[in-house]
Amino acid sequence: MTRIETLAVHAGGESDRETGAMVPPIHLATTFRHGPAGERVAGYEYQREHNPTQDRLETALAALERGNAALAFGSGMAAMHALLESLPPGSHVLIPTDCYTGLRTLVQEFLPERGFSGSAVDMADLDAVRAALRPETRLLWAETPSNPQLQVADIAALATLAHGHGALLACDNTFATPVLQQPLVLGADVVMHSTTKYLGGHSDVMGGALVFAARDALYDRVAHRRHITGGILAPFSAWLTLRGCRSLPARMAWHCRNARTLADFLAGHAAVSQVHYPGLASHPGHAIAARQMRDFGAMLSFRLAGGREAALRVAGALQLVANATSLGGPETLVEHRASVEGPTPHSPQDLLRMSVGLEHVDDLLADLAQALDQA
Ligand SMILES: *Cc1c(COP(=O)(O)O)cnc(C)c1O
Repeated sequence: MTRIETLAVHAGGESDRETGAMVPPIHLATTFRHGPAGERVAGYEYQREHNPTQDRLETALAALERGNAALAFGSGMAAMHALLESLPPGSHVLIPTDCYTGLRTLVQEFLPERGFSGSAVDMADLDAVRAALRPETRLLWAETPSNPQLQVADIAALATLAHGHGALLACDNTFATPVLQQPLVLGADVVMHSTTKYLGGHSDVMGGALVFAARDALYDRVAHRRHITGGILAPFSAWLTLRGCRSLPARMAWHCRNARTLADFLAGHAAVSQVHYPGLASHPGHAIAARQMRDFGAMLSFRLAGGREAALRVAGALQLVANATSLGGPETLVEHRASVEGPTPHSPQDLLRMSVGLEHVDDLLADLAQALDQA
């Protein structure tokens, strides 16, 4: 059982030993019977430490990412924060210039208050990354493809750079999912997911995860922190996420096929000045993406020749495609990122981000075509 399609269906999904039920049970218990001196009966004590439904999900995630251990959290941000907070005091962290806004806020606003430092660098430029390393740099954070400009970083090269410096490489694999890209196989130490996105896959369950290459001291540190600070995933959320994992490879194939068709259409449209999609041969990271990814994903962004006003008109004219944040669900979503990034937006004003869903591609093309007529 080594192919990811098979792993996705079966990992963590073994039938229930007690009843033979083919679908895993949801254990809602917060407490588990133990002996008079606290001896554990079946390995469990209290839900915040471990729980059987969360364990099943962690087994599945570790298998899918080819890791040795996984920890599930209540959200992607809780997972990200738990890892960053587990670094030694005084650590410096390098993050990508283009990345999830929550990471930027954590590193620029929260971590400095705790004696950590962080700086942003173009992760696609290895010389710039090398120059940005400091003696106290303990972690390189890659997000590839990145949000929202779909920049591609060379995971294997970054791992070599990080390890040569005595630092770790963590990779946010939310956009690619383990179906398309397996950072641990390429040398990363930790993978982070917002399972809220493709792994859950139905826009109805929030969660996050860290997957570790080794069950080592770092894993122990983060697991201990999760137990004490309480950012676990609720059993029902773990169950829904595990259910999402089972269809992940099939969904990703359809997502990617739709996205490629839309990217080609947008790239040929007069109202569009630029399309950010690593599957396009014109994308600066295309060769690296082709090497380290199995397909190019279903996130893309594009810029309107008519600027901010045109971007807002197109977003407003879409009928089938909804204006909403988040990604990875069955429905296609669009978002004018600059409008939702707060007082100092990072995204260009003429950019729209799109999470390409599972509808029939001709219906998506028709909606995009009529909306772009308004540009
Ligand atoms: C959504 C997202 C996050 C944050 O995850 P939450 O589950 O919303 O906390 C982090 N990274 C990326 C790339 C995301 O898309």
